[in-house]
Amino acid sequence: MVPASPTPRQISPHQQPSPYRRTPPGPGRRAPEERKTREERDVTAEPRPPGRPPLPPAPAWELGGVTVHRIDEVALPPQTGPWLLPSATPEVIDQTPWLRPDFADESGVLRLSSHTFACTIGDLRVLIDTGIGNGKTRANPAWHGLRTDYLARLEAAGFPPDAVDLVLLTHLHTDHVGWNTRADGGDWRPTFPRARYVASRREWDHWAAAEMDDARRQMFRDSVHPVRDAGQLDLVDVPSAGAEIAPGIRLLPTPGHTPGHLAVELRGRTGTAVITGDCVHHPVQLGHPALGSCVDTDPEQAVTTRRALLASLAGTDTLLLGTHFPPPTAGLVRAQGDTYRLIPVPGRPAPTAGTRT
Ligand SMILES: [Zn+2]
Repeated sequence: MVPASPTPRQISPHQQPSPYRRTPPGPGRRAPEERKTREERDVTAEPRPPGRPPLPPAPAWELGGVTVHRIDEVALPPQTGPWLLPSATPEVIDQTPWLRPDFADESGVLRLSSHTFACTIGDLRVLIDTGIGNGKTRANPAWHGLRTDYLARLEAAGFPPDAVDLVLLTHLHTDHVGWNTRADGGDWRPTFPRARYVASRREWDHWAAAEMDDARRQMFRDSVHPVRDAGQLDLVDVPSAGAEIAPGIRLLPTPGHTPGHLAVELRGRTGTAVITGDCVHHPVQLGHPALGSCVDTDPEQAVTTRRALLASLAGTDTLLLGTHFPPPTAGLVRAQGDTYRLIPVPGRPAPTAGTRT
């Protein structure tokens, strides 16, 4: 059970103005990136051993005043596909030739990735999901005790931890909440000290009432409760039409994988993108929308949600950004017979988000 207190802040989607506008630094209040000395800022990144080459620039997609960067955490091992999507057999993949070479290998193994999206929109810096995290005790060996340079990559893209304003959580699964926190001595503390962390109230209520196994309880203890205990968690009621929580950011209810699952729509002056979360795990599900994952809480609902989302995107210019899609990660949805395919749209290296003035 999730302890009842302290109560997370309740946010209404109709709240005007949006609670997520940035407050400009006032007199005597230093801008966040000025609050620490350079030396202090440097320790916010994971140490990179000397002699390692510089990080390659993160791929990014430009939507007109909105830039979405993909921040890589780790490529998931080849056994992930057969476990997660057991119906995606090599025969099914052979029937979907456009998956190769980017999304499946020659032998019919699906490629899957753990990454997050970091986005500048107006003057907000927003992170969508937080991956697996470092140093967490996990039952899945691919997620256990990671030591990735994710934070260094995030900072290199222009998102040092204390510059992040908003962390949007598509759902409360282990591989989406990990960098919510990081180790601080023997404790787990919020990685993003200024951020509001946002989740669906329905999602929170589901897990609060669920009989969780030890592994899930551990995940809530180390990656979710510290954020609530720091008073940084906001729970949003998301109606079926979606909720615009800040200008250009809309939460889309996409239940089935979990009851309160959210996809995230980002709207710029010249383009729109939808970030899947786990309502689509892999592009193979465009060719086979009925193909579900082994961890969907309501498999039938998950298929209905996926079909509706893909139908709404087919033939449009809206970019689909997959939370577990391997590079090139993004694409346009096009009808193919009575299903769909993804036309890849690779990201381009973008300038870092830069220093806010
Ligand atoms: Zn996931």
